[in-house]
Amino acid sequence: MMSQPDRRFHYPFINCTNCGPRYTIVKFLPYDRIQTTMEGFKMCEDCHTEYTNPLDRRYHAQPIACPVCGPHVSLLVSSSGKAIKGGISKAASLIKQGKILAVKGLGGFHLICDAKNYEAVRRLREIKERKTKPLALMARDLETIEKYALLSPEEKKILLSARRPIILLKKKREIKGIAPFLDEMAFMLPYTPLHYLLLEHLDLIVATSSNKKDAPIMKDEEEGIRELCDYILTHNRPIHMRADDSVLRVVDDMPLFLRRARGYVPYPQRVPQELEIPHHILALGGELKDTISLYKNGYVITSQFLGDLDEYQNYKYFKETIHHLTKLFEVKPEVVISDLHPDFHTTRYAQKSGLPHFQAQHHFAHVLAPLLEHKIAPKNKVLGVSLDGYGYGEDGLAWGGEFLLADYSSYKRLAHFKYVPLPGGDLAAKQPWRMALSYLMDAFDSRLPQVKALEKVSKNKIKTVMSMIEQKINSPLSSSCGRLFDAVSFLVGLSPLEIEFEAEAPMRLESAAQEGIEESYGFSVKGNLLPYQISFTQTIKSVLKDLAQEIPASLISAKFHNTLARVIVSVAERARRDHGINTVVFVGGVFLNKKLLHRAKSFLEQKRFKVLRTINYSPNDESISIGQIAYGLNRLKTTQTLIK
Ligand code: ZN
Ligand code: FE
Repeated sequence: MMSQPDRRFHYPFINCTNCGPRYTIVKFLPYDRIQTTMEGFKMCEDCHTEYTNPLDRRYHAQPIACPVCGPHVSLLVSSSGKAIKGGISKAASLIKQGKILAVKGLGGFHLICDAKNYEAVRRLREIKERKTKPLALMARDLETIEKYALLSPEEKKILLSARRPIILLKKKREIKGIAPFLDEMAFMLPYTPLHYLLLEHLDLIVATSSNKKDAPIMKDEEEGIRELCDYILTHNRPIHMRADDSVLRVVDDMPLFLRRARGYVPYPQRVPQELEIPHHILALGGELKDTISLYKNGYVITSQFLGDLDEYQNYKYFKETIHHLTKLFEVKPEVVISDLHPDFHTTRYAQKSGLPHFQAQHHFAHVLAPLLEHKIAPKNKVLGVSLDGYGYGEDGLAWGGEFLLADYSSYKRLAHFKYVPLPGGDLAAKQPWRMALSYLMDAFDSRLPQVKALEKVSKNKIKTVMSMIEQKINSPLSSSCGRLFDAVSFLVGLSPLEIEFEAEAPMRLESAAQEGIEESYGFSVKGNLLPYQISFTQTIKSVLKDLAQEIPASLISAKFHNTLARVIVSVAERARRDHGINTVVFVGGVFLNKKLLHRAKSFLEQKRFKVLRTINYSPNDESISIGQIAYGLNRLKTTQTLIK
């Protein structure tokens, strides 16, 4: 005989004390139901009995609910806004028919379609205005993922964890339109009951954040979701704080965060005891891929990823988040910290705050983030290898290939990539062929050799950019490592003429790199006085020689990655010889490159260096605000400048 099904059978808002929404529904602390967006749902008698029984798994489960008293889903037609019948199973059948649905999750809406229906994927890309940026997938179970990707035991463990991040996994089988030109695809498992119910009918869906270009993820229907989809599967439990899915890779069995948000925020991080102070601090981060961090009572709390603050909507999200987190944790900032950049929105916000304001250099802040996370004591000097796209330098130039001798109090620039012009300024970061030209002129002056990749660019444009570089017109100098990757990616024919998303050209170069190659290219370290300059003239010349001999891009890429790893080792050995340094810290967005990270780390460890990187945070600009907190704590601790 069939037993009576549980009263919550197939109820999409089931939860217990171990799982369910938290960060995105809480308005105030302590975490009690009346302080969450569940306050409007009055518990029925059955739920109340469970909620108040200490032996029940739902004892004090704040979002407790059932079909009688809790939230409900509804399915709407986007064009008319009208509700239709059928709920989740109807939604699933619409997806199977190739429709695009917005589905309300924990931290906002996903845009969802059938991952194996190329026409639906193509249309979703059109709606999101994304031609090539990889789309995240949600799979019914591990077995489904294993059909398309390779999975290590550690990757399985993290996929199955309650935090349910997205993980980038090595492709086994291509799915057209999901992650073109890359060797990985992004997968997650369902993380709400609603997702589970949807995936009873489907095995693999695209589940990408519903945002308009350069705006935060949408959390309410009113934010314009109807324009992005055919149908909306929504519910009436409000989202108080929006948060994207977290994204990571697994490298050497440890997570490497590309984006830290849902599931991991706002986990507090203890600081080294020597840095504890009685004051509250607010750190605002940088500008791109921003986060904010708060300090209170020995802990740092870092926000979710907030995006590029130069976009008005993201800047609003930034202010929303400061307001929310300071209220939630009852933080009353006494000092505010920002980047050195005079024109960043964060710097201006700090100046207007009326609070004492400290500024920390971008790459220095990068280096301090893992020191704080790993509770390195003050006065321990490390070599910070800070490689990224851009950070404002002390000399006003665009830094990004930096080797800093640092502790919490200060840094000395030991070495940096040789400056090359960025022809066209910001445009140089969008059009990698400009960087290719810049590096070619650095290596060959104006007598450029034949380069096949440059045939895609009109002769006129090449001439204009060459004369810009020669005459130093709109060509600021930069030591950026990201731009060097752009140049090489373009020279070997992997980069598009114009990129669609940040790091697209470097990601393609990394994806192509052949495994198991030991060879590398030459480079030189110049100068007798600090900082040394690392010149890639030889590297570029050798790349061109290989290209002339029709060496494949996969081999050139591997050799280029090895070259960078050898540069890092070479500078580390100087730091050891001249300054007694044995700890090397890897920071900056370039270290999202799994192959470079793995290579450089193993080279250094063979030479008995200790290598540190962020484990619970992204090495990219998301960790700037954490480093700023470290700087501020040390400064307040040692100089006692905050007189009350
Ligand atoms: Zn109930
Ligand atoms: Fe950076």
